[in-house]
Amino acid sequence: MSTHSREYRLDGIYRQRQESFYMQRVKLTAGVISADQARAVASVSTRFGRGTLHLTTRGSIEIHWLEEADLPAVKRSLAAVGLTSRGACGGAVRGVTCASQGAVGFPAVEAMARRLHRHFTANPRFERFPKKFKIGVEADAASRRHLIQDAGLVLSASGEGGTHYDLYVAGGLGREPQPGFLFEAGVCENRVIPLIEAIACVYVAHTPAGKRLKHLTRTIGEAEFRRLVALEPSAAEELPPVSGLPEHLTPVAAARIVASVPLGELSSARLTDLADFAAQWSDGFLMVTANQDIAFHLSVESDSDEAVSALQRTGFSASQVTFRVCPGTHNCLAGLSPTRDIASTVIEAMGPTAQGLSWALSGCPNSCTQPQLADVGIVTTTLVKDESGERTTRFDLYRGNGQGFGTVVAKSLTLEELCHAVRAIG
Ligand code: SF4
Repeated sequence: MSTHSREYRLDGIYRQRQESFYMQRVKLTAGVISADQARAVASVSTRFGRGTLHLTTRGSIEIHWLEEADLPAVKRSLAAVGLTSRGACGGAVRGVTCASQGAVGFPAVEAMARRLHRHFTANPRFERFPKKFKIGVEADAASRRHLIQDAGLVLSASGEGGTHYDLYVAGGLGREPQPGFLFEAGVCENRVIPLIEAIACVYVAHTPAGKRLKHLTRTIGEAEFRRLVALEPSAAEELPPVSGLPEHLTPVAAARIVASVPLGELSSARLTDLADFAAQWSDGFLMVTANQDIAFHLSVESDSDEAVSALQRTGFSASQVTFRVCPGTHNCLAGLSPTRDIASTVIEAMGPTAQGLSWALSGCPNSCTQPQLADVGIVTTTLVKDESGERTTRFDLYRGNGQGFGTVVAKSLTLEELCHAVRAIG
């Protein structure tokens, strides 16, 4: 193992479970990537990896099976098309996400996500944090993704009086799920960046290594946290308004279509097909969705029926079952279960009612697939030894009701018990 592997994290690189192999995570702001960039990612995967890609629930793309000697060339290849991975892993401001790409307010949200990305990425003031710092910008609160960010913004007003956001802070999932709380309602867009700067400064100054912002607010309390943030010089600062051309890149959606990517796994050849589709139908941009699919906002001159037929001819269709899945033991060092195999088994056990629900499976309690936000969430927990000494994977089952976080309804199930519970849903 390289002695540099921890240092690689700020470049968006984690060691894989398999000795000597690395994963490169590519940051995509609000999940948006151009057709040329998508072709470059596919090319990197084919040339340096094994031609396989993983779409994440935070709208990033992961390239697996890279060797250490090739990492600088991978970085150069991505930089050549304007892509960065800086801060995609490790203690930094991670990729700025958006789970409401199909909402009317998405252009404003995409523009804000781009400003945040520009400001916080590769800025040494916002690296080497105690742990990751996640920002998400949403056009509405429907997905509840604003509750799982260190700083989660929800568009609250947009018009002649300017654009405003409700700011939620200190949320997170993992082993200690905690919904974010409303820090300030109706923050003017020109105050968003300085206010998040102030929050990040308090986080860095007062939080022990390895802990998220949610740990700090739990420890010192909301009132003390607010007091500390107010003491930061940037907390009340207002930046000049942004002027110039619109900052969003995707077409203002006349229609949106989604190509299902089962279990978030995509070959580089298939990503190239989707890039070619985007070049023809959606002004050359495609989007990684929060459910690990690829979406397109059709350009105004595109006929949506023709576009759907063209997408089907490439072999893609709408999703049959919404099922978010992380790499688990297939690639991830922290994984406790072979998530793709488990997901396939669970899907086979589903009846029609279950197929109509949203599902998420995480390979360990880190909960990267956000199982607490699905209708049905599955978290791989511990490996326990049975009487014969065999190690057995267990699963906690969560049910959500569309509000807040889902809760555990059954603990430590075997795979057989899990499938029984899935069949019982109908
Ligand atoms: S949930 Fe666990 S196993 Fe899955 S990607 Fe995250 S850290 Fe890895």
